[in-house]
Amino acid sequence: MSDKYQQLRELLGEIFDLEAASAVLHWDQRTYMPPGGNSVRALQIATLKRLAHEKFTSDELGATLEAAKAEVSSLDPDSDEVRVVQKVERDFDRKRKVPTKWVSEFFRITALTEHAWVKARANADFAQFQPHLEEVVELRRQYIEFFAPYDHPYDPLLDYFEPGMKTSEVKAVFNELRPRQVDLVQDIAERGTPVDGSMLHQPFDEGKQWDFGVEVAKALGYDFERGRQDKTIHPFTIGFGVDDVRITTRFDPNYLGTALFGTMHEAGHAMYGQGVSPNLDRTNLIEGASLGIHESQSRMMENLVGRSRPFWVAFYPRLQEVFPSQLGEVDLESFYRAINKVERSLIRVEADEATYNLHIMLRFEIETALMEGKISVGELPEIWNSKMEEYLGILPPDDAKGVLQDVHWSSGYIGYFPTYALGNLMASQLWIKIEEDIPNLSRQIERGEFGDLLAWLRENIHQHGAKFEPMELLQRVTGSGLSAEPYMRYLRNKYTDIYKLS
Ligand code: ZN
Repeated sequence: MSDKYQQLRELLGEIFDLEAASAVLHWDQRTYMPPGGNSVRALQIATLKRLAHEKFTSDELGATLEAAKAEVSSLDPDSDEVRVVQKVERDFDRKRKVPTKWVSEFFRITALTEHAWVKARANADFAQFQPHLEEVVELRRQYIEFFAPYDHPYDPLLDYFEPGMKTSEVKAVFNELRPRQVDLVQDIAERGTPVDGSMLHQPFDEGKQWDFGVEVAKALGYDFERGRQDKTIHPFTIGFGVDDVRITTRFDPNYLGTALFGTMHEAGHAMYGQGVSPNLDRTNLIEGASLGIHESQSRMMENLVGRSRPFWVAFYPRLQEVFPSQLGEVDLESFYRAINKVERSLIRVEADEATYNLHIMLRFEIETALMEGKISVGELPEIWNSKMEEYLGILPPDDAKGVLQDVHWSSGYIGYFPTYALGNLMASQLWIKIEEDIPNLSRQIERGEFGDLLAWLRENIHQHGAKFEPMELLQRVTGSGLSAEPYMRYLRNKYTDIYKLS
C-alpha cells in the first residue's frame, strides 16, 4: 500500500549515505587528517557531494516524490510520511535550482578555503585568506542568482539555514534587540557591582578539564555510546545518523570557560541529533528543523542550564574537588558571578550572554552589506574593527582575534550567523514553557537531575527532526511566534541580580 513512499525512502537512504560519508570525511579533516591530505580530501568531499546532489535532483526522485505524495495524501497531515514528503519536496525544489557543477565547485573550493583559513588564522594574516574568501563570496553571489527574483539578496542564503525566514524579519528583530542590549551592557558597566572573574583564568590541567566536561555532558543526557568527543580549533557537532552524533571541543590550558561551556553547548546540539525519531533516520529530516532551533538547544544547555545558579549548586562541589588549588577557596556565589561576568570581549564563542548578540549583529550587517555589494572582501578587516569599536568599544589587536576568528565564511556559511541570535531568543521562549510544564525544574537541576528536561525536549523538539519548519514548531510548542521579549526579560532579570542593578 505504501510502495511509492518506501521507494522514496530507499532513494533518500542512499542519498543520506553519501552525505554521511562526506560528513565523516569532513569530521576527519577537522580532527585527525594530516595537513598533506587536504587537496585530495577536497576532491573526495566534492565528489560525494556532487553524487548526492545529482541523486536528490534526479528525475527519478522527482517522479517517485510525486507518486509518494499522491499515495500519502489521505494520511494524518502531521504523520511522518506526509511531513517527510513535504520536506523532500521543498528541498527538491530548492536544490533543482542549483546546478550540479556549482555544487561540486562550491565544496571543492570551500574545503581548500577552510584549510587556508586555519593557516591564515594561525598567522593572523587576513591578506593570506582574502583571495580564497573572494572565491567563496563569488560562488555565493552565483548561488543567490539561482533564486532570483528575491526580496533581498541575502534571503536565499538565510533560507538555507533558517527555512522560511526573511532578511527583513531578522532586521526587524535585531533593530528591537540592539538598543536594549547596548543599554544593558552600558548599565552594567556604569552601575554594576564589579564581578571578579580572575579565578577562571589560571592554569587548569587539560586532562581534568576533559574529564569534567565529559561528566557534565553525560549528566545532561549526551549518550557516549552513540557519540564521542575530540579536539578541534573550532568546536562543532556532526552526525552520521541518529546513533552516531559527535562533538568536538577546544581547550585553553589557562581558562576554564572555553572547554567547559563549549562542551555543554555542543552536547546540546548532539542531544538534539540523538533524540530525532529513528523513523526519520537515513533521511534529510534528521538535521533538525533549522540552525536557529538547533542553536536554541545548544544555547539552552550552555546558558539557561550551564550558567544558572541551580546547575552549579549541583556541580560546583564536584568542580572544586577536581580543581582544589584553583577553586577550593572560591565560594559558589563568587564562581556563579564569575561565569556570568559581562565583558566587552573580542571572541564571539566566549562572549557572555549580554554581549553575545552584538557579535552576531556585527556579522549580520557585514554579510548583508557584502551581498548587497556595498562593501568588498578586502575591506572586511577595517569594517570589522570599526564595528567592534562602535558596539563593544574595543579594537582587536590582530585579525586572528578579529575578522579571522570564525570558520563559517571559509566553509561558505554566509547567512548562518543570525541563527545563533535567533536560537538565543527561541531558547528563552521555550524555557518559559518548560518551566510551566516542569514546575520543580530548578530543584531537579539543583540535584543534578535532567531526566524530565531531556524528556520534555525529546517529546516537543528533538523527535520531530525537520518535520516542522522552525516557526511552525515554535508556534506549536510555545503558542507564539518569534519574540525578543522573553530573552530581554531573562537577561534583565539575571544581570540585575548578578550586578545588583536595582
Ligand atoms: Zn552551536
